[in-house]
Amino acid sequence: MDLPRIFTIRESSHRIHNPLTPAKLAALGEALHLPPGTQVLDLASGSGEMLCTWARDHAITGTGVDISTVFTEQARARARELGVADRVEFVHGDASGHVADQPVDVVACLGATWIGNGFAGTAELLSRSLCPGGLMLIGEPYWRRTPPDEDTAKACHAAAVDDFHELPDLIGKFQDLGHDVVEMVLADQDSWDRYAAAQWLNLRRWLDRNPDDEMAPEVREELTSEPARYARSTREYLGWGVFALMKR
Ligand code: SAH
Repeated sequence: MDLPRIFTIRESSHRIHNPLTPAKLAALGEALHLPPGTQVLDLASGSGEMLCTWARDHAITGTGVDISTVFTEQARARARELGVADRVEFVHGDASGHVADQPVDVVACLGATWIGNGFAGTAELLSRSLCPGGLMLIGEPYWRRTPPDEDTAKACHAAAVDDFHELPDLIGKFQDLGHDVVEMVLADQDSWDRYAAAQWLNLRRWLDRNPDDEMAPEVREELTSEPARYARSTREYLGWGVFALMKR
């Protein structure tokens, strides 16, 4: 049970595995006005940057669950580095059915809503760990501009145009599920670049160090094709944001 290795090659330098910059992640933490001691559960917590920095900046406590051994180790190291290892814990495991033993104040899933087969199922999963009046954070793509055809949608790694909605429609969908949308922090093209373009140097450095690795041809192909694909497709059409929801 682990994340395929290509992800850890691509995102080897990333602390945040989504298109928010550290400043945007910090803005989200500030926007939520979390009192000290707020308990946070983060499903698919990646390298733990949200929990670790919010533990440092807002004295939250938290648990992260992630399927990647590499990212989970990085998260634990980051907690030690920031001096918050007594407040946050990182568990290696499958988050898809994960429910907290005791309901918590904030439950998050940023950039991994496939763990609940989409944002609706993920909202349902998260709600099972949430105390009444708690905050749910969902990080999800939307169409910045709706792609003109299915090929363009596929080039954005969507299966179809219908996979995502435009921003007002996504907000409407969250409301249809019975939530108030109470905050949001959105990526923009520059913050997308920090996530996507930052992967290219990782790929190149890895290739230089591992020319004979069995994955070298795949990584070479990705490094060659990815920058133009990203510029043509994802950068133009795909938005991404974290939405804070409260059950009505
Ligand atoms: N939320 C983090 C990571 C987002 S990237 C951040 O925003 O930085 C997606 C993450 O989902 C990766 O860390 C990957 O290891 C994790 N993941 C994928 N499938 C998972 C599953 N079934 N259970 C737990 N984590 C999963």
